Amino acid sequence: MGEIKYNAPDHYLVDELFSEEHKIVRAAIREWVDRAVKPVIEDYANRAEFPKHLIKEMGSIGVFGPYIPEKYGCAGLDHTAYGIIMQELERGDSGIRSMASVQSSLVMYPIYAFGNEEQRMKYLPRLASGELIGCFGLTEPNHGSNPGGMETRVKDMGDHYLLNGAKMWITNSTIADISIVWAKDEEGIIRGMIVEKGWKGFSAPETHGKWSLRASVTGELVFDDVIVPKEFVLPNIQGLKGPMMCLNSARYGIAWGAIGAAMDCYDAALRYSLERIQFGKPIASFQLQQKKLAEALTEITKSQLLTWRLGQLRDQGKATAAQISMAKRNNVFMALTIARETRQILGAMGITGDFPMMRHMMNLESVITYEGTHDVHLLITGHEITGIPAFK
Ligand SMILES: Cc1cc2nc3c(=O)[nH]c(=O)nc-3n(C[C@H](O)[C@H](O)[C@H](O)COP(=O)(O)OP(=O)(O)OC[C@H]3O[C@@H](n4cnc5c(N)ncnc54)[C@H](O)[C@@H]3O)c2cc1C
Repeated sequence: MGEIKYNAPDHYLVDELFSEEHKIVRAAIREWVDRAVKPVIEDYANRAEFPKHLIKEMGSIGVFGPYIPEKYGCAGLDHTAYGIIMQELERGDSGIRSMASVQSSLVMYPIYAFGNEEQRMKYLPRLASGELIGCFGLTEPNHGSNPGGMETRVKDMGDHYLLNGAKMWITNSTIADISIVWAKDEEGIIRGMIVEKGWKGFSAPETHGKWSLRASVTGELVFDDVIVPKEFVLPNIQGLKGPMMCLNSARYGIAWGAIGAAMDCYDAALRYSLERIQFGKPIASFQLQQKKLAEALTEITKSQLLTWRLGQLRDQGKATAAQISMAKRNNVFMALTIARETRQILGAMGITGDFPMMRHMMNLESVITYEGTHDVHLLITGHEITGIPAFK
C-alpha cells in the first residue's frame, strides 16, 4: 500500500503553483485552525454560539482584509493569498470563514474602495486587528435575490440623513460595532453608509432557530429614524454596483472556502475508511467506498485548479463577475455533495458530532444560498452565454 496523504489532498501538485509566501500563509492559518478552531467548534455549534474569543486571534494572524495595503494595518497580500486563507478557515468551519469574509470583503473592502481617507484611517486598522467587528446590510425581508428592489431609505435632511427600513439575515449583526448599510436616497439611487452601534433608533435583534451556520451570528438590522451624519456616507460609490463589487470579493473567497470544507470531509472519511473493519476488511477496500473517495478527490482537484486560475485572474485585475459566479456555484455544490457522500462512508458514526461532515453539510446549505443562490449563479452564467438575463 502506498503512502496515505491526510490533511488536505493535493493530487495535482497544485502546491507547486503557489509562491513561497502563499505556502507560508497557508501553513500558518492551517496550524491555527487545527489548534484554535477544531477543538472547540463542535461545542460552539451545538450551543449556537459564535466563538468570540477567536476574533482578536484572527486579527493577529492577519485574516481580516489581507489584500488591503499595510498602511491601513492589513497584510498587503494578493488575492490568491486571500483565497488560501478562506480555504484554510473553512477547513475549520464555514461560520468562522463567514465572519472573516464579511469583515474583509463586505466591510473593509467597501471602506477601502469607496470611502475617503479619513474613513479608511478611522476604521480599517481597528477592523484589521479585530478590535472592531463589522456587518453588511443588503438583504431585506422582501428583497433577497433582488436587492435592487430594496425598500430601506435615506432622506437628505440638510446637515444629515435620516435612515429608515430593515435588513434581514445579516451575518455578525448583533456583535457588530459598525454596519455597512445600503439604502436608496430620494432619487432612488443606492447609497452606502457606515452606521455605528448604539445610534438612536438602531437595533440588531438576533435570528434564532438556525440548523445551519450555528457557530455564526445572524440577525436583523432595524432603522427607525436613525440620524446618519453626512461624513458617514461612503462618498465614492452610487448604485447597485457598490454592493455587487463587495459581493464579488466575498464570492471569490467563498469559492476557495468551500474547498476547505470539502477537504476536511474527505480527510476524515479517508482516515475512517482505512480503520473501520467490516466483513474482515477495511471498508476502504470495497469498490463502492473507493468510488466515493475517488470522486471526492477528483472534484476537489478540479475545484482547486479552477480557483487557482481565478486567483491569477483576480490578481491581474481580470476576473469577471461571471467567472467568480461560476466558481462559487461549482465549488459550493461540490463541497455539499462531498459532505453528503463522505458522511455515508462513516455509516451511523457520520451523523455524530465526533466527525465534521454533518456540521459542514448543514453549514453549506447556507453557503449555497447566501451571496447569490445556486440558481441565480446559474442564471448569471446563462446571461453570460446568451446575453439574455433570465432572472429579470
Ligand atoms: C446564514 C445566512 C447569512 C447571511 N448573511 C447575509 C449578510 O451578511 N448580509 C446580507 O445582506 N445578506 C445575508 N444573507 C442573505 C442571503 O444573501 C439571501 O438569503 C440570498 O440572497 C437569497 O435571498 P432570499 O433568502 O430572500 O431568497 P429568495 O430571493 O426569496 O429566493 C428563494 C428561491 O427563489 C429562487 N429565485 C429567486 N429569484 C429567482 C429568479 N429570478 N429565477 C429563478 N429562481 C429565482 C432562489 O434561487 C431561491 O431558490 C444571509 C443568508 C443566510 C442564510
